[in-house]
Amino acid sequence: MTVRHGREFLTIPGPTTVPDEVLGAMHRPAVDIYASDLPALTDSCLADLARVFRTGGHVYIYIANGHGVWEAALSNVLSRGDRVLAVGGGLFTHAWAEMARMNGIEVELMAGDSRRAVEPGAVEARLRADTAGALKAVLLVQVDTATGVVNDVRGVRAAIDAAGHGALLMVDGIASIGVVPFEMDAWGVDVAITASQKGLMMTPGLGFVAAGPKARAVHQHANLRTQYWDWTFREGPLHYQKYCGTPPEHMLFGLRRSLDMLLEEGLEAAWHRQALLARAVRAAVTVWAEGGAIEFNASEPAERADSVTTVRTAAGASPAALLDYCRTRCGVVLGIGIGPLDGKAFRIAHMGHVNAPMILGALGVVEMGLRALGIAHGRGGIQAAVELLADAVPP
Ligand SMILES: *Cc1c(COP(=O)(O)O)cnc(C)c1O
Repeated sequence: MTVRHGREFLTIPGPTTVPDEVLGAMHRPAVDIYASDLPALTDSCLADLARVFRTGGHVYIYIANGHGVWEAALSNVLSRGDRVLAVGGGLFTHAWAEMARMNGIEVELMAGDSRRAVEPGAVEARLRADTAGALKAVLLVQVDTATGVVNDVRGVRAAIDAAGHGALLMVDGIASIGVVPFEMDAWGVDVAITASQKGLMMTPGLGFVAAGPKARAVHQHANLRTQYWDWTFREGPLHYQKYCGTPPEHMLFGLRRSLDMLLEEGLEAAWHRQALLARAVRAAVTVWAEGGAIEFNASEPAERADSVTTVRTAAGASPAALLDYCRTRCGVVLGIGIGPLDGKAFRIAHMGHVNAPMILGALGVVEMGLRALGIAHGRGGIQAAVELLADAVPP
């Protein structure tokens, strides 16, 4: 017996649900790259991406996933043998650090506790000790999608400033930009990156980098630059230089629609919607956790991300069985635990094109699964989520 017929709901932390309007905007013939209005389309996307990054700096669009723009960011501002400080205990900090190493950068990893946010005080102390200014950049992931922890970008900026250090602040906002507040210029972020397939409600395949004035100055003498990623080349006068080749036409058609949807709702309203839905998820998980078999991975409530909730399961309460039940019996695809949490956790994403029925439906299915599989859980998780939303959303 299953109750899965109908539309499957993908609640993994990327790719997220792509709105039908966005899919529809992509369903059209290719256009002539030389005799079309593509340059105007590119300009409008760049201008609106700058609004999303909250920057007056330069934005670059790459045909790439998140890993691609990690490399784009590193190669444009660093040189072989430069030292950088990667902070945070999440999987994505480790992976970005590893990429930097493969690119010839010396990386110092300050991992800390993987269930906690980065401590700005520790960053400040490390930078104060670097009196020679050997560290050229601090790499920070705003929301670590594996652990479900959100880091304090402003706090890390303040730590760099308090230490009087000149390192660039480079932020991975792939699972946070468009989802939680991010203010590139006001917070003093030098390089920010994001990708199309999470908060921006688009298919995977586009990556975005925003660079502030200090990063663009350092860029002039960075020697890891390569032609495909190079900002200077992409700033050239010809439209094809913006993509270093054929523009990803259909993805731009889709991106245009997804940016319209996001900006029509309003960035602040979108942040607020996703925060409320995240709180509903946390209300349910808090109640379920009373049964003792599941718990939040992020140990500190204030450090739980509004993009994704990572739920650890006790030995004996198999996340694989729960994931399988939800998918094959109910048509809800939860995220698996990744990295050190492989086989030990599941994830519920609440970013991008999500609303109350999608999130309440997903929670209802998880609760069904917990019950059907006999996994101990507190009763009333759904009720708690419904009450939280009812109190937060007035008539
Ligand atoms: C998804 C994600 C990435 C990797 O993006 P890909 O598109 O899979 O390369 C990097 N950082 C964060 C924070 C992410 O959520």
